Amino acid sequence: MIKDEILKITESLPPNVRLVAVSKFHPEEALMEAYKAGQRVFGESHVQEMQHKHDALPTDIQWHFIGHLQTNKVKYIAPYVALIHAVDSPKLLAEISRQGIRCGRRIPCLLQLHVAQEDTKFGFTPDEAEAFLSQGEWQSMTGAEIRGIMCMASLTDDEHQIASEFEQAYQFFLHAREHYFANQPTFCECSWGMSDDYPIALRHGATLIRIGSRIFGARQY
Ligand SMILES: *Cc1c(COP(=O)(O)O)cnc(C)c1O
Repeated sequence: MIKDEILKITESLPPNVRLVAVSKFHPEEALMEAYKAGQRVFGESHVQEMQHKHDALPTDIQWHFIGHLQTNKVKYIAPYVALIHAVDSPKLLAEISRQGIRCGRRIPCLLQLHVAQEDTKFGFTPDEAEAFLSQGEWQSMTGAEIRGIMCMASLTDDEHQIASEFEQAYQFFLHAREHYFANQPTFCECSWGMSDDYPIALRHGATLIRIGSRIFGARQY
């Protein structure tokens, strides 16, 4: 079943979009089933859990950290994390860069944009993100490489609302690419869309969709 869902989703994606299989709270056997269906990109949102799975599972898996990341935990995942999706403060980016330099790599990351109506969600508002990029200090953080934008839509059934939030993130991405990353072709990722809203995300610029429950079933807490 996991295999069927993976194939169903990946076969329906345009060639420029990648599936991040969100495996948080699911056991290693479930990830291995997805792996055997060809899935190589997995998303986790807790550092310890990702550590355990990284140590136990095949080495060609790309581990994406998709949750809120505490500054003091960056060091644990810095050597191997393939993409940090939710950079939500200048302080976090600075620490990612520091740890990237320590590991001799540039750690790929995305800026998390706050576009949802809920005020509990993390991230830069578009104004804050603009101020951060124009201020320019990020250019000296050479152990981190900003590859694009990430967002989460409001928890609502209102598809127009969700579409307008994804579109807002996409317009910000286009603006940032033109003004700050014109010479950096690696700035190319738009991470939005989850189990219930990814078809909308695909119509509004997504290049990475983060899908958990649709593939693995309800999470076991
Ligand atoms: C859990 C999670 C997902 C996946 O959610 P589903 O609704 O299970 O597909 C995607 N993105 C983030 C940031 C998450 O924490």
